[in-house]
Amino acid sequence: MDATSCERTCPDCGSPRQARIVYGLVEFTPGLEAQLEAGEIVLGGCRVTGEDPGWCCQDCRRRWGASPLSRQLVERASVTPPDPLWVRLCFWPVRILLFVPITIFWLSLLVTIWLICPSERRSLWPRRWKA
Ligand SMILES: [Zn+2]
Repeated sequence: MDATSCERTCPDCGSPRQARIVYGLVEFTPGLEAQLEAGEIVLGGCRVTGEDPGWCCQDCRRRWGASPLSRQLVERASVTPPDPLWVRLCFWPVRILLFVPITIFWLSLLVTIWLICPSERRSLWPRRWKA
């Protein structure tokens, strides 16, 4: 059994009555409704994994075969457009602007802890700072 001969027959029951599974958001046109009623297509829903079956057996309801539409939908969704130039130019300055206050905050927290913690000082300030 090669790929071409079993393309439209069910691998379980061998039935030639196969419906194509359509994924994604579909437009309900009269043509589509006629195809649905005739059992030529079946709606697979919007959740695609890229490895979804492409055919549904009308006799035993087995879903089988790889759906190129499912793979295309996942590939299209995973392609992110490149950032515009101003985003790329602003990326590092914005990072630095965010990084500097965070660093200052943690450093000041460390200094405060260092000032408060030693018990012999009994004061918020180190001894050498006193008059
Ligand atoms: Zn079947």
